[in-house]
Amino acid sequence: MQLKHVLTICPYCGCGCGIYLEVLDGEIIRTIPSKTSPVNQGRLCIKGWSAHEFVVSPKRLKRPYLRKQEKLHEASWDEVLDFTASRLREIREKHGPDSIAFLASAKCTNEENYLLQKLARAAIGTNNIDHCARL
Ligand code: SF4
Repeated sequence: MQLKHVLTICPYCGCGCGIYLEVLDGEIIRTIPSKTSPVNQGRLCIKGWSAHEFVVSPKRLKRPYLRKQEKLHEASWDEVLDFTASRLREIREKHGPDSIAFLASAKCTNEENYLLQKLARAAIGTNNIDHCARL
């Protein structure tokens, strides 16, 4: 049995509380507040205490899906990306770039969120981008 504590930052909001992820045999099992973090000094809000749960949630999507006739169907990444790109192109041509908005997620990495705002601004041409961690 191998137990590790990995220091990181709570992903849920811009406060940036320090947390330890407790990892038992390669699986994250608990979130513990960092007592030495100057931000939270050993405290967490209710979201922070559950910061690890989405990683191991059985509800987490692990592959892409497309909705067809009101039902979700498993699809390949190529199929989903082609469909999404073509729908975004159609919508932008018909209604303009500001008819599209992007919502980023605290559950993604900084790099993924950076790429999403690049997609919004540089590829689609809109500043309609927001993030759930913006307080
Ligand atoms: S969600 Fe709560 S625990 Fe997480 S960074 Fe924000 S205030 Fe801290």
